[in-house]
Amino acid sequence: MNGGEREATALRFPYAEPPPAGTCRDVAPGVRWLRMPLPFALDHINLWLVEDGDGWAIIDTGIASDAIKALWEHIVADELGGRKVTRLIVTHFHPDHIGLAGWLTERLGVELWMTPGEWHHARQALADRPGTFGEELADFYRRIGFGDAQDTVKSGRPTSYRTLVSAVPETYRALADGMELAIGERRWRVVIGRGHAPEHACLYCPSLDLLIAGDQVLPKISPNVSLWPRAADQDPLGSFLASLDKLERAVPPSAFVLPSHNLPFYGLHARTRQLSALHGERVAEVVAACGTPRTGAELVPILFRRTLDRHQLGFAIGETMAHLARAVALGQLARRERADGVWLFGRA
Ligand SMILES: [Zn+2]
Repeated sequence: MNGGEREATALRFPYAEPPPAGTCRDVAPGVRWLRMPLPFALDHINLWLVEDGDGWAIIDTGIASDAIKALWEHIVADELGGRKVTRLIVTHFHPDHIGLAGWLTERLGVELWMTPGEWHHARQALADRPGTFGEELADFYRRIGFGDAQDTVKSGRPTSYRTLVSAVPETYRALADGMELAIGERRWRVVIGRGHAPEHACLYCPSLDLLIAGDQVLPKISPNVSLWPRAADQDPLGSFLASLDKLERAVPPSAFVLPSHNLPFYGLHARTRQLSALHGERVAEVVAACGTPRTGAELVPILFRRTLDRHQLGFAIGETMAHLARAVALGQLARRERADGVWLFGRA
């Protein structure tokens, strides 16, 4: 989902370009930025190195592929000034963030640090019998009103987790909300966000006034907030909006923000407010469209007017359902079940 052009004016981007592939750029004292390619419409992820005593802590990994492994080999050999890697910190379980956690921790002999919620999600996604989630998704899409569920599942299913994540370590060190983490000489505070992922870790360093934001706040695109089958959180958008408010309380507006996608920026509170407003408008749009009861399938093209590729369609369906779930949680819409099992959303 794209937040449009209006936000650009409120945000300030000190770097016009990312560092070239395979190189690092200093963005703050003891903090380095590097980029890895992704094989999607969103074609990159930003990763960070934080000085940790006599070495560097890695934040997030990129997806599992030979090309990304080769880039890491090059970075470890040539870009760290001969210093070692001390640990791996992962913000959340999505494949572009955790894909090489198993390989990197083993290759470098370091520990993984992440939240329990994200670690369990990653382990579960990897352990799933192939096809299980696909079957659940097919049933979910049928209830949303895609009669041709098989075709929709095939075209809308996110790329298989196993193809993008090599392994998730069996043990890890737990990050928790509000925890003070010493990385080298500096202290970082863990700020947990929800809605995009179950227990997403952001890291704020007060002495640098710098936030490693992961996917919780992005400057150009809005972080995907989807309702999926078997979701423990049935109102992920409500959780996401509450997390934006919490970030505003936890991190000052002056903070330099390092997001996982697009460019580092200033203007955190401007961006959290834009995202809140954008989702509020979209909830109002689905409520307005449900004057006559509608299925989720009928609402997808109302929220997403542009053409969607295979990867984007699944996320568009998930986002539409998250906005409907928010409207239901607010008491503005009610969900009923048609005789054929399809959900209908109408005015409460
Ligand atoms: Zn993510």
